[in-house]
Amino acid sequence: MRYVEDSETYHDFPGEGRTAEEVKRAKSAGYVEIEDYSESDLNKGYFCQTCEYFTKAKTSTGFWCNKVKFPDRPYGCCNKWDRK
Ligand code: SF4
Repeated sequence: MRYVEDSETYHDFPGEGRTAEEVKRAKSAGYVEIEDYSESDLNKGYFCQTCEYFTKAKTSTGFWCNKVKFPDRPYGCCNKWDRK
């Protein structure tokens, strides 16, 4: 699933609730967030849920990535993933 950012640029996660700078950092890290995966077992595989940088926080998503510095979600993933 691809989300439309504007008429010319596409990326693989919704930008709402994230600043332009946070979206830029997430895109640069190759972040992907596909809502269909939220029903998966998030304790397996390479989801943010299993990444050492993933934390709960008072952000627009309820979570925060300490590596990429943006509000991520448990079913997201990026190229900077490291096992908890
Ligand atoms: S570094 Fe880890 S927690 Fe942050 S976006 Fe990437 S996979 Fe998710």
